[in-house]
Amino acid sequence: NVRVRFCPSPTGNPHVGLVRTALFNWAFARHHGGTLVFRIEDTDAARDSEESYEQLLDSMRWLGFDWDEGPEVGGPHAPYRQSQRMDIYKDVAQRLLDAGHAYHCYCTAAELDERRDAARAAGKPSGYDGKCRVVTPEQRAAYEAEGRASIVRFRMPDETITFTDLVRGELTFTPENVPDYGIVRANGAPLYTLVNPVDDALMEITHVLRGEDLLSSTPRQIALYKALIELGVAKEIPAFGHLPYVMGEGNKKLSKRDPQASLNLYRERGFLPEGLLNYLSLLGWSFSADQDVFTIPEMVAKFDLSDVNANPARFDLKKAESINADHIRLLDGKAFADACAPWLKAPHAAWAPEAFDQAAWEAIAPYAQTRVTVLSDITANVDFLFLDEPVEDEASWVKAMKEGSDALLRTARAKLAAADWNADAIKAAVVEAGEEHGLKLGKAQAPVRVAVTGRTVGLPLFESLEILGRERTLARVDAALA
Ligand code: GLU
Repeated sequence: NVRVRFCPSPTGNPHVGLVRTALFNWAFARHHGGTLVFRIEDTDAARDSEESYEQLLDSMRWLGFDWDEGPEVGGPHAPYRQSQRMDIYKDVAQRLLDAGHAYHCYCTAAELDERRDAARAAGKPSGYDGKCRVVTPEQRAAYEAEGRASIVRFRMPDETITFTDLVRGELTFTPENVPDYGIVRANGAPLYTLVNPVDDALMEITHVLRGEDLLSSTPRQIALYKALIELGVAKEIPAFGHLPYVMGEGNKKLSKRDPQASLNLYRERGFLPEGLLNYLSLLGWSFSADQDVFTIPEMVAKFDLSDVNANPARFDLKKAESINADHIRLLDGKAFADACAPWLKAPHAAWAPEAFDQAAWEAIAPYAQTRVTVLSDITANVDFLFLDEPVEDEASWVKAMKEGSDALLRTARAKLAAADWNADAIKAAVVEAGEEHGLKLGKAQAPVRVAVTGRTVGLPLFESLEILGRERTLARVDAALA
């Protein structure tokens, strides 16, 4: 029975790395008919916030993820917010101390720094040197009389740790590379190093899938797990799989703070959740070299950890956009119109709510659906229908309105005034006007487009004019000529 977890810390805007981790865990759980545990790692009061927590939940819902245990759904291992589980960690830390798997460490930060620097200078491993592994009762009393505070440190066994990573195969860590590490702060606050594996154990997690940045935690956690098994807290060590780094601009690791990493950016630009997830799934995974667009159910059906690649993945915004565009094309007409709804009103759209014309929208929507890359593109593509006057795009005017444009527009106006009002007849009128002035269609339609829509690029022109109507079209040509 597969049990995986997604366990973010609510420390700010969700970023794409986090979403990818959630996606792989979710897809793995769903593929295997397993359980996804959603746990909130909010033990760091200084960094965590209620606002970030709400944002996380909101993002998860927007992305379309569901979870079997966690906030709002509950479950047999509740509570799922670590801030509400402090008694558990306190108890486990005490039991680790009692059993000798952990000890109080009285070294001050200054002492640690000094010894670390000396070890480095001597070319020796610079992790904790084990000084407080053995502290006599007299020393302890002396430290305490000095007013020294102590942290709780986990005692790493003196043995090599080997495990088979689900993504990168067998990995080995020797003891000098994995020193004893802190699990409880001097103020009594338990650290990630303790609470994460303790909860994985109590929540009976079978597979830990997370980013490569956490790889160095794994030998520590395996050692802690062994101690927890001995104490009867854990049953079995889970399998671990580390997802590859995501590289951004300049082949540097995509950082949480990189603007391109912010999930909100994609939401605000009008990515479809399924388009974004499809793209993010390709950051380290694919099931076929020649299929990179697929639905999320298809991804779930195909998801297999053996297809996860250990090499760093490149974040490519252009590719993300192109995949999103493909997902927009895949929607049925109604779903597309529904997805656009938020973009058709303030704050995204500049027109007054009463200027919106449902019939015109329904007529233009199919053309928009084949053109837009992200939903926010929709407003600029249809605003000519709902604004009193077209937007004035300076660059478009300069580009399209050349010498002779006025003459062309006058001819076109006369022909449009007389044409039947449908796309074919409108096109014929513009073609004829162009011919009279020795202009090919491309050149002839540019001034018409700019006069009527304000921009040189947009949806198919003749259909757009048909939907806008003769009266408004002519008025705009007149205004351009005035
Ligand atoms: N709360 C940790 C983080 O967000 C979880 C790491 C893990 O998956 O073990 O980085």
